[in-house]
Amino acid sequence: MVVCGGSVAGVLFGPELLARLNTNDVEAELVSGFDQLSGFDQRPALDGRLLGHFPYDEVMDSRLIVVEPGIELHEDAANAFDAMRQAAAADGLDLRLLSGYRSHDLQESIFFDVASERNQTAEERAMVSAPPGYSEHSTGYALDIGDGEAPETHLSPDFEQTPAFRWLQDHAARYHFILSFPEGNPQGVSYEPWHWRYEGSASALRLFEPARRLVQRRP
Ligand SMILES: [Zn+2]
Repeated sequence: MVVCGGSVAGVLFGPELLARLNTNDVEAELVSGFDQLSGFDQRPALDGRLLGHFPYDEVMDSRLIVVEPGIELHEDAANAFDAMRQAAAADGLDLRLLSGYRSHDLQESIFFDVASERNQTAEERAMVSAPPGYSEHSTGYALDIGDGEAPETHLSPDFEQTPAFRWLQDHAARYHFILSFPEGNPQGVSYEPWHWRYEGSASALRLFEPARRLVQRRP
């Protein structure tokens, strides 16, 4: 069930909204954060990508709704996911929403904290996680899906062995969800069978146009 959580989101994301008012801060944090990582000397490529990932702005708070406790999506993606989850349930499958919208601040801590914890360089880290400001999750249109019957495969390449993943392969397109990082994707990001993005509206299509063009350019 999709619950409208405007007030909840307002409380949770108040400080981030303030931080967002000064976009230069985001840029400054990005640069200083990267400087802390050994051997990092990357700057965005001509097509705007950083370590393979395209830049994405944060979705406006007013478009976000709470789908699960602590998980928000853009309202269009939330409605489509809700319909898809119900259809999957009718086929006996338990689609679990594991992650949705992430602010740039949250993405920054995911990227840098885990990188230093695991002693990864930014390049190594970017194979498995987007740098802050470059995650599809900040658009509210990207979501990580798991199989409720196989929690051990959550956020693992083994998810592709689950009935939920096979169902998604057959049905997700009908709900306008596509796999962002299939095996051998031209962005060079690790295969993520759990990470899907919504492309069922004009604004979503426009956001992901650079990523789509990169796929179409492939021989
Ligand atoms: Zn994801």
